[in-house]
Amino acid sequence: MIDQELPSLLQTYRAFHEAPELSTKEEKTSATLAAQLRALGYKVEERVGRYEEPGTTCYGVVAMLKNGDGPVVLVRADMDALPIEEETSLPYASRAHGVMHACGHDVHMTTLIGTASVLARTKDRWRGTVMLVGQPAEEMTKGAAAMLRDRLYERFARPDYAIAMHDNASLPAGVVGYCPGYFMAAADAMNIRVRGVSGHGAAPHTTKDPVVLASQIVIGLQTIVSREISPIDSAVITVGSIHGGTKRNIIPDEVQLQMTARTYKPKVRERVLASIERIVRGMAAAAGVPAARAPGIAHLKDPSGPAPDNDPALPEPRAAALERELGKEQVVKIDPLAVSEDFGLFGLDRAIPACMLNVGAVDPARIAAGTPLPSLHSSKFAPEPEATIRGGVEGMVACVLELLR
Ligand SMILES: [Zn+2]
Ligand SMILES: [Zn+2]
Repeated sequence: MIDQELPSLLQTYRAFHEAPELSTKEEKTSATLAAQLRALGYKVEERVGRYEEPGTTCYGVVAMLKNGDGPVVLVRADMDALPIEEETSLPYASRAHGVMHACGHDVHMTTLIGTASVLARTKDRWRGTVMLVGQPAEEMTKGAAAMLRDRLYERFARPDYAIAMHDNASLPAGVVGYCPGYFMAAADAMNIRVRGVSGHGAAPHTTKDPVVLASQIVIGLQTIVSREISPIDSAVITVGSIHGGTKRNIIPDEVQLQMTARTYKPKVRERVLASIERIVRGMAAAAGVPAARAPGIAHLKDPSGPAPDNDPALPEPRAAALERELGKEQVVKIDPLAVSEDFGLFGLDRAIPACMLNVGAVDPARIAAGTPLPSLHSSKFAPEPEATIRGGVEGMVACVLELLR
């Protein structure tokens, strides 16, 4: 069935890839996805979701297929692209200036359509309800929250399971990867304003130098993971941007730091956030910065929510089903990633077993030649579409059938 579908799925994939839309702007993408799912016999609703900002439209898509009594399985695909100028020189490269499907969400949508089609044609093999979700604004980690805020589960159905698939830039195309337990991190983003007292570079004793202080803070923050977190747990803190000053002989007023913290367990997350606060404030006090010039710490909105946590009951038994359907060599156990996702929100803090699988996107010839694919979010990210989509659909269908047998 999937082989029959592939030519049309590849055409759909190339169309999505050519016309990417940024987070929260997925107007045409969502309409295409909705139209295709409707044509397959699903009951489809568009513009599901509500952002907190007034006057904005949320382009969430929900497509339902009820087939007798049984569990409800939510299958989610994200729809948004990234602000990147594509450099793949593919014939179907992005035609939108400075916008690119560099995270493979076009693969995810195509996989969702393929899965929808196979499930619609195999209704004699399952019982229950398939609830397909086209989620906007994943890259801003605000689409899942927006759809839940719009009473997704009250209006359509409360799922018994939630599953999703993300492409993977290191696995061979079509190979399905699964990871029991935490498989992605909770991401927190912070801006820190390190304030001092400015003055002449030749008279530091009359100032409070925020450049030196900011440097100490950057190093101090790195001791959180190495000295405060159990070696069995993991976390990562990166200060990715540091800006301050205008001229070599002026001690400036302030330095801006931008940082991200990635954690898995909620307790570790709490500890990391509290330690960041303590170190930043404590170091400023130790440097003699007056209280009125204490650092400002802004925890940016739209954090990822909890770290996506694959329900232990889901991946392992499903892996057996996947191996049966796809073959043993096509299914591998993978390590967690420190990237983040808002898919975890669909699990309502573990009330609903949720599981995200990966599908490899790399042409095996590239792996053999030792020239791996550039990572997700690279301007040169170019999945091998045919095998990736085939593997994605196979994996998704096997997973849904296993849950709705
Ligand atoms: Zn991404
Ligand atoms: Zn992504």
